[in-house]
Amino acid sequence: MTTTQDTRAAVRARYEPVIGLEVHVHLLTASKIFCSCSTRFGDPPNTNVCPVCLGLPGALPVLNKKAVEFATLAAMALNCRINQRSIFARKNYFYPDLPKGFQVSQYDKPLAEFGWIEVPTAAGPSAALRAGLGAGATTKKIGITRVHLEEDAGKSLHEGFPDSYERTYLDLNRCGVPLIEIVSEPDIRSPEEAHEYLTRLKEIILYTGVSDVNMEEGSLRCDANISVRPAGQEKFGTKTEIKNVNSFRFIRQALEYEIGRHITVIESGGRIQQETRLFNSNEGKTYSMRSKEEAHDYRYFPEPDLLPLVVDAAWQQQIRAQLPELPEARRARMVSEYGLTEDDASTLTRTQSMADQFESAARAAKNPKRVANLVISDLLGRLKAQGLEIEQSPISMQGVAMSADLVESGAISGKILKDLYDKAFERKQDFPAIYEQEKPQQITDTAAIEKMIDDVLAANPKQVEQYRAGKTTMKGFFVGQVMKMSKGTANPALVNELLEKKLSH
Ligand SMILES: [Zn+2]
Repeated sequence: MTTTQDTRAAVRARYEPVIGLEVHVHLLTASKIFCSCSTRFGDPPNTNVCPVCLGLPGALPVLNKKAVEFATLAAMALNCRINQRSIFARKNYFYPDLPKGFQVSQYDKPLAEFGWIEVPTAAGPSAALRAGLGAGATTKKIGITRVHLEEDAGKSLHEGFPDSYERTYLDLNRCGVPLIEIVSEPDIRSPEEAHEYLTRLKEIILYTGVSDVNMEEGSLRCDANISVRPAGQEKFGTKTEIKNVNSFRFIRQALEYEIGRHITVIESGGRIQQETRLFNSNEGKTYSMRSKEEAHDYRYFPEPDLLPLVVDAAWQQQIRAQLPELPEARRARMVSEYGLTEDDASTLTRTQSMADQFESAARAAKNPKRVANLVISDLLGRLKAQGLEIEQSPISMQGVAMSADLVESGAISGKILKDLYDKAFERKQDFPAIYEQEKPQQITDTAAIEKMIDDVLAANPKQVEQYRAGKTTMKGFFVGQVMKMSKGTANPALVNELLEKKLSH
């Protein structure tokens, strides 16, 4: 078994995967891209439709300005150059959920080009990559070929009806919902890198606020192009496309599977067919769906019902002014402003809301670093255990700031803080309320604490000797022992003070 695996790994090492991703993201406009129908998700089927999005004869599109602004903002956040003039084009194909028989998209003159995203990467094992921006990781720029605007198609419903076995139902509510398509360069070299790219991309888009990037509702969909080539060869191998995978984890699995399949085919003397494949997540395999269309199959031509899209310098400037601080910059600032590690900054900026929440607590508290530790080790774990987002936390950020200050001043111990957090989660109440109810009983009786200190010092003569020999860090050990003996109820400030006195003579 080991031998087979070793051989497989050795064969795998002789090939280099080449991956490019196409990501479709719904824009959060209230109305559709070319008509005033609502884009609301989950409305009854075929209620948000009109002659324009149904493609009835004679209906004319009117471009939604907000969609242009959102697309431009996203493209700017992805470091793209915005083309002042871009052209809408018809992409012709037949599909039951595309009543017009064509999709309005952009072709040879897209809205934006030449962008990039920086992703963490590591020359070494992929585990380092998965650990995010850990030690030894470097970063790599993945090029973004283009960002263009287009309309979505409707949805074919193949399941959920009594006669689903013989009928497909159509919901055209999604026809004309604005999308951006973000096409990467074939710069990605492993499934892990693809996963990182998608994670960063999603994060950046979320920060811009132009999409909720909700994969369950189809607000982000991803197609992957993949080929392999012998390591060291410049020419790309024949690629296959994996369509519409709906989770980042599945993309990684699908890519893993495809890489293995390509190598097996090539090693056995076969040739890869250029085709579109579907990923079956239950089996972890891809299946051939159809031969891949070439661009000329779509008979692209400029959309005659729409003027060229002009986003001039003045408008671009207005849009650029709305660019928020992006995740990478925010992480760097948080590291320097609050003295956080990169890993902690990474965790705390996972979503904009999380970063906002953390910063509001960090600014209110005396020691931001303590707030970071509290949020990461005491709050996030409890939230995760209950399946809550940070917005749903029973403990508000003011509560976190208050608790951090109480520990900071020594008014409560870390152990008591954990108990209070547990109670806050049990009773779904905020920290100040719990603190008021519990009024944690602390031992502030000097004699009792002195007695404990004496016991600790007597039980640890060697450590006392070390302390007196100049190893003052031992003090932390003694404090810990006293706190342990008191089951966390001794007043830490008092313990420190009394210990100092005892040890000084
Ligand atoms: Zn409409």
